[in-house]
Amino acid sequence: MTTRSETQTTLDHLLTEIEHRNPAQPEFHQAAHEVLETLAPVVAARPEYAEPGLIERLVEPERQVMFRVPWQDDQGRVRVNRGFRVEFNSALGPYKGGLRFHPSVNLGVIKFLGFEQIFKNALTGLGIGGGKGGSDFDPHGRSDAEVMRFCQSFMTELYRHIGEHTDVPAGDIGVGGREIGYLFGQYRRITNRWEAGVLTGKGQGWGGSLIRPEATGYGNVLFAAAMLRERGEDLEGQTAVVSGSGNVAIYTIEKLTALGANAVTCSDSSGYVVDEKGIDLDLLKQIKEVERGRVDAYAERRGASARFVPGGSVWDVPADLALPSATQNELDENAATALIRNGVKAVSEGANMPTTPEAVHLLQQAGVAFGPGKAANAGGVAVSALEMAQNHARTAWTAERVEEELASIMTSIHTTCHETAERYDAPGDYVTGANIAGFERVADAMLAQGVI
Ligand code: GLU
Repeated sequence: MTTRSETQTTLDHLLTEIEHRNPAQPEFHQAAHEVLETLAPVVAARPEYAEPGLIERLVEPERQVMFRVPWQDDQGRVRVNRGFRVEFNSALGPYKGGLRFHPSVNLGVIKFLGFEQIFKNALTGLGIGGGKGGSDFDPHGRSDAEVMRFCQSFMTELYRHIGEHTDVPAGDIGVGGREIGYLFGQYRRITNRWEAGVLTGKGQGWGGSLIRPEATGYGNVLFAAAMLRERGEDLEGQTAVVSGSGNVAIYTIEKLTALGANAVTCSDSSGYVVDEKGIDLDLLKQIKEVERGRVDAYAERRGASARFVPGGSVWDVPADLALPSATQNELDENAATALIRNGVKAVSEGANMPTTPEAVHLLQQAGVAFGPGKAANAGGVAVSALEMAQNHARTAWTAERVEEELASIMTSIHTTCHETAERYDAPGDYVTGANIAGFERVADAMLAQGVI
């Protein structure tokens, strides 16, 4: 039998090869490291996983599509963006994962997100493979008409690669209900099919699931609550810092407040807001979802309890809990040090890979409960899968039913990660638990389905 350290040496060689084969993709390298650095115990224990080619196949997307997206702005100027869809792994079901529209998007970013999605989706237990897509298009400051023309052009290429049994995109940063509407309309027009299950996050009058907009944030709070329960605590009375002010952040704050915690911050690229009385969600939703404005407007209109801090780090605000809900690598070593100094008890990732590897290490060393995104933020994609189920059955569930299912999925993901970590001698290490549990499900399906 190979030992764990021999296995780790093999995995380290593979990581070096991944870096050579995929140059200039630092986010993908980071995501691959994070997973492959935790798999040695399971690969050493189960010889079938050491089969040559299994992990090599897992780190190579099944298909990668890159395409030109030409569109005209309101002045009639032609703009050209780049579109992506990475269909990473379909061993467990159709590729599933969001579309991100943000200027930082490139192939390496989409591959990191798609790779994460494989394990996250496996953890939901709902029969969905992993994929991700998007564009370097920046919707900020664009009119509705420009966003519509962009979405139509994007879908004019994407439609040939997706389908309810093939690949099912949804939203991510920069893609919400408005964009999904335009994308769905163009798909329907081109294909002449009412194929509700081809996209999730649809509007509620035409195939969207109740609670899908809330699901990622709500799910993350439920995961954080489960981690606290494990330590004999609950959310009641805890102070929480939340970063971001998009869909995930808003519904994280909503659920924290509903469960008796005090969420005191939100942020965007211009800075952050601290509100001692707790974030006023009606005001934040008005500014971000209706006016599509910036968070400094929140502080201006809220009055004495709130102040806007330009630049700066939201992680300097003392809190019991931290829920990073903005974007990758937003919580670094300095931030982790500040959180630990201020006595943080738990960090739960609402965004994808918001905590740098060095920061994760510091938090875990300090005994802080750390919930990695692929487990903690899986509620969003889980409710997407429930939306697909409702679409297939031509039915619509009540909000209560969807929330109940979401709660039971999050509890079961927490239990799975916790038990898997214990089984592999890493008690309390949710990173190891999530990676190994997700890997086992995907790897077993890949082995059963042969070399493809
Ligand atoms: N973008 C979300 C995620 O990172 C949701 C994807 C989906 O609903 O397909 O998991």
